[in-house]
Amino acid sequence: MKALTIEPGKGDLKLIDFEEPKISLPDHVKMQILEVGICGTDKEEVAGGRADAPKGEVRLVIGHEMLARVTEVGKDVKSVKPGDLVVATVRRSCEICEMCKAICYDMCQTGKYKERGIKGLHGYHASFVVEKEEFVLKMPEELREFGVLLEPTTVIEKAIDESSKLQAVRLPQNQTPDEYLKGKTALIAGLGPIGLLAAMVLRLRGVNVIGMDVADDTSKKATLIKEFGGSYVNGKEHNLASIVKLHPQIDLIVEAAGIVKLDFDLIEVLGINGIYVLTGVPAESNPLSLNGSKIMKQLVLKNQIIFGSVNANIKHFKRGIEDLELARKTFGKLVEKIITHKIPINEFETAFTKHKEEEIKIAISWEK
Ligand SMILES: [Zn+2]
Ligand SMILES: [Zn+2]
Repeated sequence: MKALTIEPGKGDLKLIDFEEPKISLPDHVKMQILEVGICGTDKEEVAGGRADAPKGEVRLVIGHEMLARVTEVGKDVKSVKPGDLVVATVRRSCEICEMCKAICYDMCQTGKYKERGIKGLHGYHASFVVEKEEFVLKMPEELREFGVLLEPTTVIEKAIDESSKLQAVRLPQNQTPDEYLKGKTALIAGLGPIGLLAAMVLRLRGVNVIGMDVADDTSKKATLIKEFGGSYVNGKEHNLASIVKLHPQIDLIVEAAGIVKLDFDLIEVLGINGIYVLTGVPAESNPLSLNGSKIMKQLVLKNQIIFGSVNANIKHFKRGIEDLELARKTFGKLVEKIITHKIPINEFETAFTKHKEEEIKIAISWEK
């Protein structure tokens, strides 16, 4: 079979012949890959950045945002069967820390976790993969067209889950995290796949959504945020003071831009008792000069929380499936539009190198 591989630290992206994995344990599930999404992490790996091959190996099969079909199962597998549409999760336990023992690998405290396609384990850009049943989730067949968006959706499920839980425990009038969100106002900074999926999830929870980017008002990003029922703010035309004037109480900021200067500036628009979650990973940049006392004073006087969120655990994958299904019923074919390009695997090179016009999410198709 074929697999798309790199040499960690160097890049050297190549489609190579690779040994087809076999079922060797009773709880193994063998899957044929349908699609794999590409994100900033993949592009960073291909450019020679952060990635680790499995112990003793030189090359790493990349890819972590997958959608697959089960072809074969071990004798103990109960939750899926051949023919099922499925997604496998990404992160695996360090087998040391309390968080991992509690199946919250996303909160691993040793940093020795593994990730398929990123850190110490082969990924999903391959004709076939094998995984243990506990890491494989059945997807409704109706999600075939955009089920590959599940993994990025889980990133935002976690960010929103943690934000709303924190607010629900500290603000007395709220009973559940979902009840907290209803009717609140959220600003989403950066309308790539993560930002647009945040808009989708927040709209499903009854949140008023403002999406901010620097694309033109007629761009795909601006159009999509409006079609999800949000409003669009063009960062090139509006300054932050004008946003505060229009929306004096922003309860939640979801950052998905990874631009350091903007990330700090956004603190200014956060409302009283507001919460601000960061999901973007910024590139290295020069030190920044900012008014620290003004920011600290505001955080204290307005009871604000700022926190970061990365990865996701199995419960976010489950909620993500529920939300994608609900989004299909609520928004119809709109969710599919987040995937702007589907590229066959034999044209993989263009997907990683050139940024395509109006690119939001690229998925590579492995289906013949
Ligand atoms: Zn990703
Ligand atoms: Zn751990």
